Amino acid sequence: MPEYQTHEHDVLVIGAGGAGLRAAIEASATRVSVGLVCKSLLGKAHTVMAEGGIAAALGNVDDRDNWQVHFSDTMRGGQYVNNWRMAELHAKEAPDRVRELEAWGALFDRTPDGRILQRNFGGHRYPRLAHVGDRTGLEMIRTLQDHGIHMGIDVHMESTVTRLLTENGRVVGAFGYERERGRFTIFRAKAVILATGGIGRAYKITSNSWEYTGDGHTLAYEAGAELIDMEFVQFHPTGMVWPPSVRGILVTEGVRGEGGILTNSQGRRFMFDDIPDAYRAQTASDEDEGWRYTQGDKTARRPPELLTRDHVSRCIVREIKEGRGSPHGGVFLDISWIKQRMSNAAEHIRKKLPSMYHQFKQLADIDITKEPMEVGPTTHYVMGGVRVDAETQMSSVPGLFAAGECAAGINGANRLGGNSLSDLLVFGKRAGEFAAKYAQSTGLGALSAEQVEQAARAALEPFERGAQGEGPYQVQYALQDMMQDLVGIVRKEAEMRAALEGLEKLRERAHRVGVGGHREYNPGWHAALDLPNLLLVSEADPRSAIARRESRGGHFREDYPDKDPTFGKVNLVIRKGQDGRMVVSRVPIPEMPQELRSVVEAMK
Ligand SMILES: Cc1cc2nc3c(=O)[nH]c(=O)nc-3n(C[C@H](O)[C@H](O)[C@H](O)COP(=O)(O)OP(=O)(O)OC[C@H]3O[C@@H](n4cnc5c(N)ncnc54)[C@H](O)[C@@H]3O)c2cc1C
Repeated sequence: MPEYQTHEHDVLVIGAGGAGLRAAIEASATRVSVGLVCKSLLGKAHTVMAEGGIAAALGNVDDRDNWQVHFSDTMRGGQYVNNWRMAELHAKEAPDRVRELEAWGALFDRTPDGRILQRNFGGHRYPRLAHVGDRTGLEMIRTLQDHGIHMGIDVHMESTVTRLLTENGRVVGAFGYERERGRFTIFRAKAVILATGGIGRAYKITSNSWEYTGDGHTLAYEAGAELIDMEFVQFHPTGMVWPPSVRGILVTEGVRGEGGILTNSQGRRFMFDDIPDAYRAQTASDEDEGWRYTQGDKTARRPPELLTRDHVSRCIVREIKEGRGSPHGGVFLDISWIKQRMSNAAEHIRKKLPSMYHQFKQLADIDITKEPMEVGPTTHYVMGGVRVDAETQMSSVPGLFAAGECAAGINGANRLGGNSLSDLLVFGKRAGEFAAKYAQSTGLGALSAEQVEQAARAALEPFERGAQGEGPYQVQYALQDMMQDLVGIVRKEAEMRAALEGLEKLRERAHRVGVGGHREYNPGWHAALDLPNLLLVSEADPRSAIARRESRGGHFREDYPDKDPTFGKVNLVIRKGQDGRMVVSRVPIPEMPQELRSVVEAMK
């Protein structure tokens, strides 16, 4: 085996977003050695983009809130196919994780009496999101980074892992390359935590950053782990639609939480026209009640704009399809109307939504304090990911853990806004703790020269074909167009089967992709190496979606528009079969214990 630079750690964390940083902090607190690898510079992970807040039942703004309400909101939002134990742990532990973040220096917005302020968000019964204006992710990353940097964590920035290394089924390290120099690196580790985020770059219209190419999902799958819930992709209702260069960029739900309303080209507040039965009792009966809710009136119920994201997205699509959309193919989101109710509305909007104000002013020349925005759905989040044990976050592969967006279970069919940042903290901590324990119980495994050589060969193949091969971006764009058209918000079996056929062709094209130049910072090469990951997650999504013959949460099938109780009892699990093909199977969801069932019943 050639001599590649090699690093040794007890625990290797792949990904430096909220989940990876929180895991690395926890593991290093137990005095094991920790390495942290990330594709971008430290501080640039996708978490930095998070806007609206962290969901935690602190009860600071409404003392009726508690873990039971948060738990039942999460289960209802996920339409009961969530891993209930994860949802329980999450609801119980999120408040401590937020307070801990504050103790480490996070400066949250405040209530008048100095406690952490909490805001309304879709699907949360009470104001629950701890926030810092609309820049919560930045504060989270800054705080975790400041705290973690003093804990002796070895950070390997601008490094991409392309393969996990295994010995007799157990994970013993990872293989990757430095993006700047193109040199290969081997990481030996006793335990590995995946915290690589999501898959949004498989779609054309997305709020997700360039890093979201499904790497962790693919690394885990190829190492023998199971994926779960891959049919559940979240399309956030409000992304920018104009100008074309910014299409998909997120418009935080915080706008609606602060009183923003959705209207169609006829000026109608169409969300009042379609309120699902499960939410009718909790939804405002008129505009005045909805407004009072956003202003903290405890006797009022939430406006329909704050229903769950899957539902709001579908209502927007309906308005557009039926010809009542805005000029550029979206609908209107208006926060400026609050000037009818508040004397200092413009100042209030700029204070509560500073990033949104600047985003629209700079990118679309729209002043959101004076005029409505145009918005439409954008691919935002993947509920599916690595199947993990609720307590420890270990996958089905010994020594391999996963946390954050690349892991799955807590969200079921649909994630509530704010539940990701709390997920990162709760399960990042758990992954770090249990990976460290695992590492303390075992030694370093042996590396397989064959695996390393295979990984190196695969990484260099695009250079062998050189600039004569097809460019990687053409294949990536074709994939994104296809996923957007055939596996989007509204799905049909025939279209998804066409997508699977299309994937076969794209895979052949990916095998012919070539890149010119050399290995030093070569973005074309990096894009070529992302392709197998994008192709894999793009296959897992429709394969599960075809098998789920019903509509639930983020997964809506035009050919099966209703929920089917049979599917309410199962998750769909994906793994690599003996013959190398993807296998989908139904796995029963364990029965919820009586005490949790009573919580859910009591909150209905
Ligand atoms: C615009 C926007 C706003 C959002 N707002 C909110 C919000 O207000 N509240 C909320 O709860 N959620 C929000 N979300 C969702 C939330 O931000 C993400 O789900 C969450 O930040 C994911 O965190 P993570 O730690 O799992 O991954 P990330 O923060 O994405 O980190 C992934 C890390 O993995 C690294 N990585 C990936 N692949 C590799 C590889 N092959 N090798 C090495 N490193 C790799 C990356 O470099 C990065 O460091 C928002 C999302 C978006 C897009």
